[in-house]
Amino acid sequence: MNERSVTIAKIKRGIVIDHIPEGKAYRIIQVLGLNALARETGDIIAVGINFESPSMGKKDIIKVENLSLSRDMLNVVALIAPMATITRIENWEVIEKHKVEVPQSVGDVVQCPDRFCITNHEEVPGKFLVVGRHPLTLMCHYCETEFFGPLIRYKERG
Ligand SMILES: [Zn+2]
Repeated sequence: MNERSVTIAKIKRGIVIDHIPEGKAYRIIQVLGLNALARETGDIIAVGINFESPSMGKKDIIKVENLSLSRDMLNVVALIAPMATITRIENWEVIEKHKVEVPQSVGDVVQCPDRFCITNHEEVPGKFLVVGRHPLTLMCHYCETEFFGPLIRYKERG
């Protein structure tokens, strides 16, 4: 038997993002700007890397005190971690738990890879359709460029 049990800080109120593919927790933190947020609010972020998961082998977990996720933030989590579950906690209790859903489209969370695209030259917020899921493929609403893999560059908020 080789069982390990590790827990990370319990939070009184906030959210837990679980079932993140291993190695993707920091990406989510960067794109959601959680570092900057935590510095501003003093709230705790607990990050678990390389946890064992029966369904995924290894997984990452993020817990954030006092956070609620906007629609854009949820969409980003769904794109980076399509199997993620979001748990809301109030008074140490789970009050809601659901799987993220990969959206049909996302807003200004990704950078269009076409340097001639209007979104890269004017103050036009990006808008992208999700045109494929395996692999995740996006299409720019403005220039209709389709892109996937490392060309999907999330706008980082710090
Ligand atoms: Zn474009």
